[in-house]
Amino acid sequence: MGTKGRMIVGMDVDELIGLLNKALSDEWLAYYQYWIGAKVVKGPTKDAVITELVQHATEELGHADMIALRIMQLGGTPVLEPKEWYNLTNCGYDVPSDPFVRMILEQNIKGERCAIETYNKLMAIVKDKDPITYNMVLTIISQEVEHEEDLQSLLEDLEVILK
Ligand code: FE
Ligand code: FE
Ligand code: MG
Repeated sequence: MGTKGRMIVGMDVDELIGLLNKALSDEWLAYYQYWIGAKVVKGPTKDAVITELVQHATEELGHADMIALRIMQLGGTPVLEPKEWYNLTNCGYDVPSDPFVRMILEQNIKGERCAIETYNKLMAIVKDKDPITYNMVLTIISQEVEHEEDLQSLLEDLEVILK
């Protein structure tokens, strides 16, 4: 923890750490959802979909990394127990029990929309209070917006084939 770095945060730091741990749980669940989705997915265009799912998994893990580091900087402890992810998550986890490519894409689009909404709210909370966290969340949400669009265009390509 950096003392001055923590002092300049213009809001309750423990509350902020709590919000960041919720986001960290979301990122780990999103990571796994993409990772396992890339393993089980079946159907037309699956090669293109696998490439994107694997890339997004890597990027979600990168988000988890950024958030964990920020929690540490603020003097907090990143969630240590995976069981807690389910208690803390904003966006939940969609079990990819139907491996058909359309289902996998729709589940992940839903997840991205929730992530965008969650980070948009978080940006409003930290705006003018914690520019460091704001800047980090801006980086993350920019990628979530990209993820949503990537998946939607894959879904559009798929719908053409399924017609
Ligand atoms: Fe993410
Ligand atoms: Fe994402
Ligand atoms: Mg992508």
